[in-house]
Amino acid sequence: MSLDTSKAVELPEDTRDGCYVVCPWCKARFGDAWEWCKQDPREETCEECGNKYICWADVSVDYCARPIQPPSPDSQPTPTEGDE
Ligand SMILES: [Zn+2]
Repeated sequence: MSLDTSKAVELPEDTRDGCYVVCPWCKARFGDAWEWCKQDPREETCEECGNKYICWADVSVDYCARPIQPPSPDSQPTPTEGDE
């Protein structure tokens, strides 16, 4: 008994791009993604190949800090002598 693999659909890999929503079927790129592709997944039909896919914005956050004022000399920690 063997499986009939001739009808198996080879699903494409997820696509990931910093600027475009990329159709996982035909690799067509759609711009202005930041305007219409949000964090909530939505179903889209590719304008190029007509296949359906789900797209969403995978947003990552970088927490940043920047110094705004040099430390005053008074607040400098005093180096302590070692016990050696
Ligand atoms: Zn497509």
